[in-house]
Amino acid sequence: MARDYYEVLGVSRTCSDVELKAAFRKAAMQHHPDRNPGDPEAEIRFKEVNEAYSVLSDGQKRAAYDRYGHAGLTGMNGGGAGFQSAQDIFSEVFGDVFGEMFGGGGRRANAGPARGQDLRFDLEITLEQAFSGDMVEIAVPSSQTCETCSGSGAKPGSQPVQCQTCHGVGRVRATQGFFAIERTCPRCGGAGRVIADPCRTCHGAGQVRQERRLQVRIPAGVDDGARIRLQGEGDAGARGGPKGDLYIFVSVRPHELFERDHLDLHCTVPVPMTVAALGGEIDAPCLGETADCEVKAKVRVPEGAQTGHTVRLKGRGMPSLRSARERGDLIVELYVETPTHLNARQKELLRELAATCTADKHHPRHAGFFDKAKRFWSASKREETRVG
Ligand SMILES: [Zn+2]
Ligand SMILES: [Zn+2]
Repeated sequence: MARDYYEVLGVSRTCSDVELKAAFRKAAMQHHPDRNPGDPEAEIRFKEVNEAYSVLSDGQKRAAYDRYGHAGLTGMNGGGAGFQSAQDIFSEVFGDVFGEMFGGGGRRANAGPARGQDLRFDLEITLEQAFSGDMVEIAVPSSQTCETCSGSGAKPGSQPVQCQTCHGVGRVRATQGFFAIERTCPRCGGAGRVIADPCRTCHGAGQVRQERRLQVRIPAGVDDGARIRLQGEGDAGARGGPKGDLYIFVSVRPHELFERDHLDLHCTVPVPMTVAALGGEIDAPCLGETADCEVKAKVRVPEGAQTGHTVRLKGRGMPSLRSARERGDLIVELYVETPTHLNARQKELLRELAATCTADKHHPRHAGFFDKAKRFWSASKREETRVG
């Protein structure tokens, strides 16, 4: 004799639909076979719980049951055998949260092969490395196919087994009144198979996290913000799916001497005031292909050179990624430096020099500027008088 449905769910005869559903959830969770492996009692209880709920959640059946008990259900497409399968009702109520709720037990082996994730790796290099190109070793944490189970997720010697919920179909049907709803099987996620005995190494995931060492060739001329794509070096695909790609995002560390502008390099070189005045030669730094390459260039300073004067060294800039023949220039900008910490004798010499200088001849820019300034000041004066 079947047990009383209200008793099975532990609810009163007057309980609401909401209470009924809550009681069912609780009881179904408790007796779910996945939670009670190898306990035949649990399976029977689970079926009972489902049967009770399928009757009490249906208004018509519940009314018949209330009046006539189990006998009232015969011929109503209700007496035991004609019921929806226990799992169907279970999925209907629990939907897709099933997998998360059961964690380990409901581990699903998803449908078909899936491509692995693309990965990003941020790589900082020096300007010197960008200039000559380089080989660098990087360590990329990525998901690799588990070697123990060859990616199946099942313990070696075992195989994923047919899903009991959908009997391998991957979809389940649920009836709600007159409607039949079909949905992806919540237990196996549509794969039709579940992993009963998970691999110890990857815990059923089929993949393991691993740090992989890769040799990456940095092409000469690479610029800040460049991306290098390494096809197939991303995460492993699931169930035989292709690997993702690895994108290396290159950033070039700021250099203490050079600034890059496309293919050109800029370098500001301080020049002593006396050299700028007399003219001469200074050494400017530049980048070389190899360590023993000339990394110094002679720059001629013309007599009377000013701050901001530039000298362009052809072909001493960055190499081009597009063409081996194309190269930028190195632009050396002079910065005339005023001497500091002068002793009495040096100051005397400068005073002597100053006394011989005339603005027009020796400081034409200064003279020109103050000509304009004087006109400006006198105009402002007139303005002031008029206002006052
Ligand atoms: Zn494994
Ligand atoms: Zn299934």
